Amino acid sequence: MDIFNKMGEELSNMGSEFVKLTKDATDTAKQHATVISENSKISEQYRIIGETLYKVYKDDEEMKEILGEDFVDAFNKIESSKQKIADSKETIAQNKGGTICPDCGNIVIKESSFCNHCGRKMKND
Ligand SMILES: [Zn+2]
Repeated sequence: MDIFNKMGEELSNMGSEFVKLTKDATDTAKQHATVISENSKISEQYRIIGETLYKVYKDDEEMKEILGEDFVDAFNKIESSKQKIADSKETIAQNKGGTICPDCGNIVIKESSFCNHCGRKMKND
């Protein structure tokens, strides 16, 4: 085999090796994307399960006993955050000269008889 044929064969081998490496890298990237995408879907389903459990059982003491300490702890943390949000919203409302509608949570002008967002009757002192 002369030198040019040998070089040609080696270049051809390098070329197919490069194609294989590129294909492998592309396949790996696709698999990584699948892992990330499916993990994201699982996380969203966990969030839905958690939110559903919270909504259904947050006031059910018997069920909270069954669910256990971790759930009760998580429920309490959610309640604590909700209270902080409500307090901050109330402060914002007061700074704007308003109050918070207990039904829809929007800011309502203090003198209003009704919430201009949901129509709830507001008590005026
Ligand atoms: Zn309202």
